[in-house]
Amino acid sequence: MSTHQTGLRAFLSDPAQGGAPDNPLSALLLQVADTVKILSAMIAQGAIADMTVKLESQNVQGETQMKLDLMSNDLFIEQLKSGGLTHGLASEEMDETVLLAKQPGKAPYLVIFDPLDGSSNVPINVSIGSIFSVLQAPADHLAEATDYLQAGSRQVAAGYALYGPATMLVLTVGKGTHGFTLDHESNEFVLTHPAISIPEDTAEFAINASNARFWEPPVKRYIAECKAGSTDVRARDFNMRWVASMVADIHRILMRGGIYLYPKDNKDHTKAGRLRLMYEANPMAMLVEQAGGIASTGRMRILEIEPADVHQRVPVVMGSRNEVLRVERYHQDYDTGKDESGKSPFFSDRSFYM
Ligand code: MN
Ligand code: MN
Repeated sequence: MSTHQTGLRAFLSDPAQGGAPDNPLSALLLQVADTVKILSAMIAQGAIADMTVKLESQNVQGETQMKLDLMSNDLFIEQLKSGGLTHGLASEEMDETVLLAKQPGKAPYLVIFDPLDGSSNVPINVSIGSIFSVLQAPADHLAEATDYLQAGSRQVAAGYALYGPATMLVLTVGKGTHGFTLDHESNEFVLTHPAISIPEDTAEFAINASNARFWEPPVKRYIAECKAGSTDVRARDFNMRWVASMVADIHRILMRGGIYLYPKDNKDHTKAGRLRLMYEANPMAMLVEQAGGIASTGRMRILEIEPADVHQRVPVVMGSRNEVLRVERYHQDYDTGKDESGKSPFFSDRSFYM
C-alpha cells in the first residue's frame, strides 16, 4: 500500500465518512475485515488444504454443508467473540442465535452473517463471499431471539467480502457504499472503489432461468421482454449473467449496473423466496440503496420488512433503479388486474419464450 492510498482503518476513522478513531462501529468493522483476511488466505489454499470437501451434514436450511461453511462460521464466531464488541450473533449455519455478552450494555452490536455465500462454487473454484449485517444490541437487557428481528432499515452497517481474483470488502455505514481491495503485500484493505454508484439504466439481467416455469406472471413478463430485446417493447437487446453466488452477482451490479432477481416462485409453496432476509437480502439491500439502486421484493422495499424469523426467506429484485421500478410496476399491474398477461397464452407457463 503506497502512501497516497487510503486504508480501511484511516477511512473508518474519518469523521467525513461517519467514523471516528474511537468509534466502536469502526472497530467492529476492522474485526470483520481481519476475519475476512484470514478467510481469504484459507480459501486461496483451495483443494491443497482440503477446503473443497463436502460434508454429510445439512444446515438449518436443509442445504449440504461444505467444510468451508463450518470453518468460516467458526472463524467468524471466534473473532467476534474475542473482539468484545459483539453482544450476540446469528448465522446461516446455526439454528439459534448465540449470546456473547455477559451483561447488558457492554457490547453494543448484534452481528448477523452468512459466513460463506455461494458454497456450491467452492469445489469448482469460482467466486464466493461472506455477507454481514450489523444491528444495535439492546442496552438494558441481554439479547433474546426477538431482539434480532429488526427491519433492515435499522442496520447500522452492512457489507460483504468477495473472494474472487482479488479479495474485496464492500461496506456501508449509511454514508454511501465503498469498496476496498486486499493488498496482499501489506495485508491491508485499500480504498479502491469510493462512493460506488449503480447506473439507473441497464441492459443486463441476472436470474436463475431454470426456475422460469415456476415464476409469477409479472416476472415472466419482465424476463420475456428482456429476452425479446430489440424486437419487442424494450427496443434494445439485453445480456444475461448468472454466477450463482449472490455476492458475485450483486458485486457485478454494484460495479456496472444490472438487475438481479431471485423472485418468489411456486416450486415450493412453503418458501416465500430462496434468499434469506436477514443475512442476504437486508445487507445487500442496504448496499444497493446506498449506491443509488433499489432493493425490492417486487411488492415492497426489502428494508421495510418486519422480520418474523432470523432465517426467513424473501423474494429479491435489486439493482439499477429504472429496471427495478419496472418490475415493481409489473407486479402492481398484475395484482390490480391491469395486466392480462398472466392469462394470455403468450406469457403462460408454456410460453415459447421460456
Ligand atoms: Mn448465501
Ligand atoms: Mn452460506
